[in-house]
This record gives sequence, structure tokens and C-alpha cells, in this order.
Amino acid sequence: MPVSLDGLLRRERALFLQSHPLSAAAYREAGRHLFGGVPMTWMNKTAGGFPLYLDGAHGARVTDIDGHEYVDLCLGDTGAMAGHSPEPVVAAVRRRFGEQGGATVMLPTTDAARVGAELSRRFGLPLWSFSLTATDANRWAIRLARAVTGRPKILVNSYCYHGSVDEVLLVVDPSGRAVSREGNVGAPVDPVLTSRVVEFNDLGALARELSHGDVAAVLMEPALTNIGIVLPEPGYLDGVRALTREHGTLLIIDETHTFSAGPGGCTAAWNLDPDVLTIGKAIGGGVPSGGYGLSAGLAARIEALEGLDLVDMGGVGGTLAGNALSVAAMRATLEEVLTDEAFARMHALAARFADGVQDVITRYALPWSITTLGARAEYRFTPSPPRTGGESHAASDPALDDYLHLYLANRGILLTPFHNMALMCPATTEADVDLHHEIFEAAAAELSR
Ligand code: PMP
Repeated sequence: MPVSLDGLLRRERALFLQSHPLSAAAYREAGRHLFGGVPMTWMNKTAGGFPLYLDGAHGARVTDIDGHEYVDLCLGDTGAMAGHSPEPVVAAVRRRFGEQGGATVMLPTTDAARVGAELSRRFGLPLWSFSLTATDANRWAIRLARAVTGRPKILVNSYCYHGSVDEVLLVVDPSGRAVSREGNVGAPVDPVLTSRVVEFNDLGALARELSHGDVAAVLMEPALTNIGIVLPEPGYLDGVRALTREHGTLLIIDETHTFSAGPGGCTAAWNLDPDVLTIGKAIGGGVPSGGYGLSAGLAARIEALEGLDLVDMGGVGGTLAGNALSVAAMRATLEEVLTDEAFARMHALAARFADGVQDVITRYALPWSITTLGARAEYRFTPSPPRTGGESHAASDPALDDYLHLYLANRGILLTPFHNMALMCPATTEADVDLHHEIFEAAAAELSR
């Protein structure tokens, strides 16, 4: 009799519990004083019923407290795209925090201008400001856009994610209406009042929504990466830029994940021309970092505005933003780790990853597809890659996700929770990718029995 997905999942959960007694015990203990039993509640997103506890991580390898070693294709959901604790970043952190001393002094260091120059070279935007997270970069970009345009609304794509930013937590429902995202926690007001939302790749809907004349900025990823990967169709991004210009709306491109597309993200790879570019996660090589780049024109418009408090409590800024440690880590990451050469290797590995997964999909006749964006690849349970966030959402299968994540974790491979995403870092090897294929094929074979 064929084993059901339910049965396979039960078996994998039992194996996970049996082989991770120390993580299970640590989780039980943590429940006494940590809300939800975890340092941050999203860590409860785990296929096995409890999280693995980290012992250490170097390059593309993670070890847990039960002594298992993993090939890490999750890489902190892009936060560790430079690899874990890359040597140049470790050295920069040691130097800045240890030898020279001083992380958060309320004084600039000369590293910051170097980072600004390097980000300008890569992404094309000339003027930069820093944050500690991509969420804050987006929040502050939104405030600046509202200030400059005098317009109230922000437009996003359905099933986007840009961090816990109030204005982005809405979707297009199956009847085509904008509605708050399910489970939206304590929204200050219904996001439908602050935002407009359209499906990715839908220029007609974008034109319709912008024609109201009340949208300060479109905030978007150049390819969706938080509902599988949804790539732009030919002409779509040019259309977005033309429509935003036509309607006096600013374009904010969030490259936090799409940075995988190359040293200058999709913006450089595809010749995009945003007014603002936001980024976080990987650029600090594991040290909290983020920032936004402004076009010269927009920077001049902001500076010309009277009465904006950009120095004190005006709503843009954070005490530790741009701190010396974060900036030193960004400099080392950009100058020495996530280099052009590293991206070329990472892209070749992601292509190898996608080819191997596609081969298994074909041989086992699975109704799945895989999409690649530079150094990242993600499979989705739909025969052809989705065109919109809504289509991709409809192809979700949480039980199948859990089964694959657990099957792989039980055999030494970590995929990204919330995704079926695999990311390559400079330390990932062909052997790592091939090991994934071997185990992925075994998981597929069990499903097809
Ligand atoms: N932008 C994008 C595209 C993201 O995927 C995320 C997080 N997954 C964020 C912003 C927010 O990043 P953080 O939680 O590090 O602030």
C-alpha cells in the first residue's frame, strides 16, 4: 500500500525528534521564559515541531547542539548570503569592536563613505543612508516618499513581503479586492486606507490604481521572492517605470532578496532606474545592516523641503543605524566577500541546483517547477512558474513543504523555512549541491511510490 504524505510526515517528525533530543529539550526549557519558547516568534515556523538549536556556523555549514552538521542552503533567509562568519567580516568586526573599539558612539567612521561609494558603484544610486534592517530602510523610504510627494498612499504587489511595514500587509483577494493580510497583527488602521495593491506583472491594474493620483510610491521587489520566485515578464519593469513617471509616483525597489541576481542586484543586471533602492540582510555579512540609496533628483527634492525634521524625532532614523560596527561589516562584506567573482561562482552553483531539481521533477513526473534568480532557486508545486503572487499563493502546499524540509533536514540539508528556497554563498560547493539532489530525489521517490 502506498504511504500517504501524512504517514511520511509522521515518520519524518518522529525521526527528527529522536535524532535531536538536545534541541527538543532546549526548546522545552526555553518555553519557561521566552514568549512562544523562541527568541522571536517566527522561529516557531519549523516543520519538525521545534527548532534546531545552533551550535556554530561557518561558510555554508551549520552544526546543531546535537552534533549534526548541515549543508546550509537557507543561509539565514539571505542574511548569510555571504556565508556564515566570513573571515574578512570576522576580521573587520574584531578590528572595529575589539582592537579599535567602539560600536555605537554616535560618531561616523570613514568606512561609511566607502560603503556608500561601493553601493553607488553597484546599484547606480549616488546617495546612501543606513539602517539596521531592511524593514527600517523600507519604512524610512516610505516616509520620505510621502514627504516629497505630499501623497498618502503606497502601492505594493499582492503577496509581497518587505518586512513588518504597516503599509505592505495587504493582498488582492480572489474576487480582486484589496484586503488586509490574514492574521495582520494590530494594524494601526486597515492597510486598505494607506495602500493600494495589485498583482505582479499586471500593468493594467497598476495603471488603474495609479490613476487615482494619490500614490506616493510603488514599493516592489523586481522579482517577487517571498511567495516563491515570480519573475517579471518582458517589458513589465519598463512599464512600471513608465507608469510611475507618468503619474508622478516614486519607484522604490527593494533588493533585499533580489541582491542574489548579481553584485548590483536586479537593478544593475536589468538596468532599472529606481528613485530609491532599499536593501538589508546580506550586505552586513551577518551583522545587522541595511540602507537605502536615493537618486540625485530625489535627494535634491528632499533637501529642498522646508520643515522636515531629518535630524531628531521626525520619524526617520534609529540610534544604532549606521553604527561603526555595522558599517565596518558592510565594507568588508562588499569589498572582500560578495565580490563580482563570488557572484559568478554562486550563479553557476544555483544553475546546477536548478538543473538537478528539474531533472528529478521530470523523471518523477512531478507537477512542480523551479525558478532561479542568480544565486537563489526555489521550487513551487505548480507545473509552470507562477506569473503573479496570487497564482503562486494558490500553489501552496504546507504539508508537502514540511515533508521536504524535514526529509532534507533529517539527512543534513537545510532549506529556508517559509520557502522552498536554496541560496548559494561563496563557500557553497558543487558537492553540497549534488548532496541535495541525492536526498531530494530520495524524497521524491518515496512520494511517488
Ligand atoms: N524586504 C524583503 C524583500 C524581504 O524579503 C524582507 C525579509 N524577508 C525584508 C525586506 C525585511 O527584512 P528584515 O526582516 O531583515 O528587516
